[in-house]
Amino acid sequence: METVYCPICGKEYKNVKMHIRKGHEREPEEVIEEAFGQKLTQEERQKGAFQQQQIEEMRSRVRGRTSDLRETQMNRLKEMNNTWQDRKKTYDKVMKERIENITNK
Ligand SMILES: [Zn+2]
Repeated sequence: METVYCPICGKEYKNVKMHIRKGHEREPEEVIEEAFGQKLTQEERQKGAFQQQQIEEMRSRVRGRTSDLRETQMNRLKEMNNTWQDRKKTYDKVMKERIENITNK
């Protein structure tokens, strides 16, 4: 069965509506309205299709953000690593020259 993110705590649940009721003691429809800043119509509340669709959208947004973040972090790490390697090269070069100067004298 598919899992759905809870808009309150962000954890995944198979039955997010039951989790919201039991875990947060809230009405799932209310929570969803708050999370998306949109009021549900009576029909949408009854069908539950809107919630499902919005949750799906939020879920893919969260996933997208997570992978963006991961990519940014990876790029940062790569940058840091490159910088460190450049510095190390410079350091090695300078030290080698100094040592050569000393030993040549
Ligand atoms: Zn929750």
